[in-house]
Amino acid sequence: MNPQGIAVLGATGSIGTNTLDVVARHPDRYHVVALSAHRQLDRLFDLCLRFAPRYAVVAAGADEAALQRRLRAAGVPTEVMSGPAALDFIATLDSVDMVMAAIVGAAGLTSALAAARAGKKVLLANKESLVMAGRLFMQAVAAGGATLLPVDSEHNAIFQSLPAGYAGDLDAAGVSHLILTASGGPFRQLAASRLADVTPDDACRHPNWSMGRKISVDSASLMNKGLEVIEAHWLFNAPASRIQVVVHPQSVIHSMVQYRDGSVIAQLGNPDMRTPIACCLAWPERVASGVAPLDFRTLGDLSFEAPDLDRFPCLGLAFSALEAGGDAPAVLNAANEVAVAAFLDGRIRFTDIYRLVSDALAGMDLAASDSLDDLLLKDAATRAWLGARLS
Ligand code: NDP
Repeated sequence: MNPQGIAVLGATGSIGTNTLDVVARHPDRYHVVALSAHRQLDRLFDLCLRFAPRYAVVAAGADEAALQRRLRAAGVPTEVMSGPAALDFIATLDSVDMVMAAIVGAAGLTSALAAARAGKKVLLANKESLVMAGRLFMQAVAAGGATLLPVDSEHNAIFQSLPAGYAGDLDAAGVSHLILTASGGPFRQLAASRLADVTPDDACRHPNWSMGRKISVDSASLMNKGLEVIEAHWLFNAPASRIQVVVHPQSVIHSMVQYRDGSVIAQLGNPDMRTPIACCLAWPERVASGVAPLDFRTLGDLSFEAPDLDRFPCLGLAFSALEAGGDAPAVLNAANEVAVAAFLDGRIRFTDIYRLVSDALAGMDLAASDSLDDLLLKDAATRAWLGARLS
């Protein structure tokens, strides 16, 4: 078997790093064709030395020239390119069989869409693509004949727990509910009165998972679970009323499917993203991921509780946005990205994230955009609207 060509978009991030860790374990199966980064140029340089991709993509033209010089001096034949069009280019190359879409935020949408339209095997970590543009994205997957595999651990768990070949009909599959588990984040037991004073570092200190800073803050506010509810809606064609969230602090059960007959099928494992990444890379086969096996003899108790929507109202907001439909999820996503960046910069309090996203949902036009261009305009307008309030 020839190794499959892979493009890793967001190679310098947490998911990108874990992906390359799994890929490097299987040089007979996977061959790195292209890598992208945004700001971490030294890291991308090191990755190019290690994997010798055909292409590397950075954000800015100046960085492109600098990285190209360094790679030439090091004798690495990688061609460096820059900008969003270059991301689309590497996502659609003939030599690329699969694309790991692991850019954070709305910036990851167009390249993931390009991969879907080109009929690639799309390993989707960038949940914001589906939250923003779920309908357009699923249409692109169908039109392009792409294979869409969910990397997000919860959706990967549901994907594994649904019947093989699930075709988007919960009733036909005998499914009653999809159950997304949530760790509860670092503030699960913190009193509501103390939430206003938590710092970005507190929010990024996740009890079980090691992740990028944006998703770590989303996990702390439970907005991440809200984004995942919307993601599950699009991936599995599930209405909000059939998606439940349960807090499971140990993060051993990564999500479950509840069937009409009372059966519940779950996927379990140690909380390490290399498991869902390896599952997507090799699907429908299985490959070693480097993750330690779960040892039930030493595991201890698994516990569950309902999410506290009073302390973590972002989750309720996301459910409401999904039910409202139209551009509400896209506005929720854009406002959340602006608010989380402001919190990470120390400009607002943690509790302001909910307030600002709520304000944006109340202040913006939520009517559905018909085209990608209109949706991107709505995304930009939401960012400008909230940016003006923050300045
Ligand atoms: P990180 O912040 O660790 O990495 C983000 C990657 O995207 C980096 O390679 C970064 O480049 C690149 N990037 C950032 N901004 C831009 C931009 N404007 N244009 C192009 N590239 C950009 O994020 P994570 O790896 O944690 O998350 C990636 C995605 O996967 C997110 O959508 C997240 O929700 C999702 N996800 C993550 C999980 C996790 O465990 N981390 C779990 C499930 C889903 P650079 O570093 O060079 O600046």
